[in-house]
Amino acid sequence: MSSHYDTIIIGAGPAGMAAAITLQKNGISNAVIDKSFFPRNKVCGGLVTCKTLETVIELTDTGATDLISDVFCDTDRIIELYFKNERLTCSEVDIPLYFVRREKFDFFLVKKYKENGGILFEGEKNYTVDFENKTITLGNGEIITFNYLLIADGALSPNAKKLGIKRKNTGFCIEAHIPKGDVSYPGGVKIFFGIVKKGYAWCFPSGNDICVGLGGVYKKSTDYKNILDGLLKQLGADTENTKYKGAFVPYGSSVDQSHCPDNVILLGDAAGFVDPIYGEGLYFAITSGIEAAGACITAVRSSYSINAVYYKKTEFIVKTIKKGNRLKKIFFSHPVGFLFKRRIKNKDFFVRFYCDRQISKYGYDYSRMIKLYSDYRKEKRLLKQ
Ligand SMILES: Cc1cc2nc3c(=O)[nH]c(=O)nc-3n(C[C@H](O)[C@H](O)[C@H](O)COP(=O)(O)OP(=O)(O)OC[C@H]3O[C@@H](n4cnc5c(N)ncnc54)[C@H](O)[C@@H]3O)c2cc1C
Repeated sequence: MSSHYDTIIIGAGPAGMAAAITLQKNGISNAVIDKSFFPRNKVCGGLVTCKTLETVIELTDTGATDLISDVFCDTDRIIELYFKNERLTCSEVDIPLYFVRREKFDFFLVKKYKENGGILFEGEKNYTVDFENKTITLGNGEIITFNYLLIADGALSPNAKKLGIKRKNTGFCIEAHIPKGDVSYPGGVKIFFGIVKKGYAWCFPSGNDICVGLGGVYKKSTDYKNILDGLLKQLGADTENTKYKGAFVPYGSSVDQSHCPDNVILLGDAAGFVDPIYGEGLYFAITSGIEAAGACITAVRSSYSINAVYYKKTEFIVKTIKKGNRLKKIFFSHPVGFLFKRRIKNKDFFVRFYCDRQISKYGYDYSRMIKLYSDYRKEKRLLKQ
């Protein structure tokens, strides 16, 4: 048996599903392959910023209220910054931060797709891809053919590897879920600097649990589990029965896709699209999925090459990552880290301004941090008047 699709997507995470749903809405035939059965777990802090929420609303045609009550697990406005265990600031932001459990969030996207007739081959562990003949043989021997192939199989991207595409997973994150009742936790988001080199630790609300984790630029010699143990003990958690889960993250290491065949593109973590400063990956995963679908639609309806259109559409992601990488070098250097601690102490309004304008909205390019700071000063002066 054989079937043909305009586009096949490998990976049903947020990047793959954003592409599949967008193609579906535009009447382009497609199918998705994933090695897992859904709902499946995925290690993730689950922070969803407002810019991501807005994108998901548009993608799935679901209202914010329904998403927040049915799919998300928590919302918060209080952000506390720490340097080691010294509290520097406590701010109440205007734009809330949202939280998801990935098994539920990813399953929501999968269900949306399937409800509208989407085809998902789940639990596919033994398929083979023939890139040259644009053919995939599934585990049961069924053959599916495609014009375009979107690879969204996550940070390790085995399929990009098969194409000989070199990648650097420069980041590593580890986390644990602790029942809220087991620690003294009044709520809020806590961010700890100075605990892990070139990164940070977090404490996020996650329904009945809190998600405590840390991550940063990967160093083989760093004992991440031991550092997380220390943080959990500081929070009063019993570390004996706690399960830790870790994974590589392509922190600011977008992949050079110029060696991809001209009908193949990479998206989400497979493309290395993760913010180099915060490690936020969901926004770029979903955005790159939508842009990848847009490139397929253009290619199907015209003679443009999918790669050229996609590179143009995702230029802003690549540029953001490049600029963020430059800023990261300065931000995580020792003297700046020290200065940061001294300067940020009690600057609650600055943290609020930064979260609302930058983290929630990407309102400033990473090369415009001086402009952000001067706007913050102006607004602060206005507030005082
Ligand atoms: C500990 C940790 C905490 C994080 N916290 C946050 C956070 O709070 N907020 C945020 O925005 N981002 C966070 N991230 C990053 C975020 O999880 C990723 O950027 C995001 O999941 C990328 O989505 P994706 O669809 O590209 O890949 P994934 O979500 O990894 O999806 C890939 C899919 O491909 C499938 N797959 C893998 N291999 C194959 C194969 N060979 N064949 C077929 N299918 C395959 C997998 O089963 C999976 O369904 C975190 C990451 C980690 C590790």
